[in-house]
Amino acid sequence: TLSDRLADTFKSLKGKGRLSDADIDATAREIRIALLEADVALPVVKEFVGAVKERARGEEVSGALNPAQQVIKIVNEELVSILGGETRRLRYAKSGPTVILLAGLQGAGKTTLAAKLALWLKDQDKSPMLVACDLQRPNAVNQLQVNGERVGVPVFAPEPGNGVGDPVGVARASIEEARRRLHDVVIVDTAGRLGVDAELMRQASDIRDAVQPDEVLFVVDAMIGQDAVSTALAFQEGVGYDGVVLTKLDGDARGGAALSVASVTGKPVMFASAGEKMTDFDLFHPDRMASRILDMGDMLTLIEQAEKSFDQDQALKAAEKLAGTGDFTLDDFLGQMQQIRKLGSLSKIMGMLPGMGQFRDQLDNFDEREIDRIQAIIQSMTPGERDNPKLIDGSRRLRISRGSGTQVSDVNTLVDRFFEAKKMMQQMAKGGGMPGMPGMPG
Ligand code: GDP
Ligand code: MG
Repeated sequence: TLSDRLADTFKSLKGKGRLSDADIDATAREIRIALLEADVALPVVKEFVGAVKERARGEEVSGALNPAQQVIKIVNEELVSILGGETRRLRYAKSGPTVILLAGLQGAGKTTLAAKLALWLKDQDKSPMLVACDLQRPNAVNQLQVNGERVGVPVFAPEPGNGVGDPVGVARASIEEARRRLHDVVIVDTAGRLGVDAELMRQASDIRDAVQPDEVLFVVDAMIGQDAVSTALAFQEGVGYDGVVLTKLDGDARGGAALSVASVTGKPVMFASAGEKMTDFDLFHPDRMASRILDMGDMLTLIEQAEKSFDQDQALKAAEKLAGTGDFTLDDFLGQMQQIRKLGSLSKIMGMLPGMGQFRDQLDNFDEREIDRIQAIIQSMTPGERDNPKLIDGSRRLRISRGSGTQVSDVNTLVDRFFEAKKMMQQMAKGGGMPGMPGMPG
């Protein structure tokens, strides 16, 4: 696996302070092989690896990770971002039923997916209706009816009088029916061919024009690997779509098709289907897919842990300094605040300090803008004032408030808080426990 191969690369990179071009190239070579093994299309691999190398060169060296881990982290972030970043939600119609049209090759999994999606929507208190517009295959309508029954969702099928043999007519009639029966989502299943085919494309786009879907979803079998690119492009040109659904992820495909399709079409993968059961279906999770494509979940976990423990180290060092020394300055105070912001969640960092759990509520309500204000004020002080805040008399306070665009009272509050925090920390260092959090604006 990639992890094994990279283990060697890592060994040779360990201990270097800065990532050289040779280091980046070595790691990039392994990434390239891993992507090809995952069945990502070659042009996509080339472009992707190029972009990663570019970004790696511009990156600051991290204190937490070794250079190769840093490259992997970039690779993972880029993968997640191409795969759609955050999961994209379905768009619902503002009025009338939301129409979802499924398109894709025969065997891609459209009919199965239609029912899975209907069940998923039903679980979210929607009232879906399935529409059988595959009139090509003899058994297709029946297959949808069977699936519909399994999930307890009604199926609109052609009957004499509502368009036997005319998928466009069936689609059009289904929308009227959905309105009458107050269904809020209509899922239109369409026919596919084994290969891309002009007549099939025309039929799908005629249905599209007839029902004006809110979402057209391109359904693609994750097992088709490299072929996914040409198929995805053909459907993009022939029908056009808003999102991609990947099926048969329960197979052993590593999922390169996801990256290929997302990358060449720029469309997000929205859902993932992984099995014969109607519940084997979920929103697509770009981060999970990235880790599957790279086949190095362990490495990614390791990177995450390394970063976390680095942050914890920093926080503890800061806390020790705060608690232990008498020469705690305003610069230290500012450093604390910036560290807290960098860690993002205040409750997280405070949770790491013993005895801080009780302040969680208070911290969850902490106003980030307060840190901006503190930062502005401290940065308007001279180095001398920061080292020795006792210097900060009335006229200095006025100057500092003007320089930082704040009120004199803000400066007063900050200086008071600083002295309180300092006193408290000194008491703590003497073993006095945690009297409160005067350092925290609140
Ligand atoms: P369609 O031609 O696009 O409508 O595809 P179908 O829904 O008829 O699916 C084709 C075959 O793939 C059927 O035998 C399905 O049972 C199977 N299938 C569909 N989705 C999945 C999936 O996620 N995993 C597996 N293992 N099989 C699937
Ligand atoms: Mg079908």
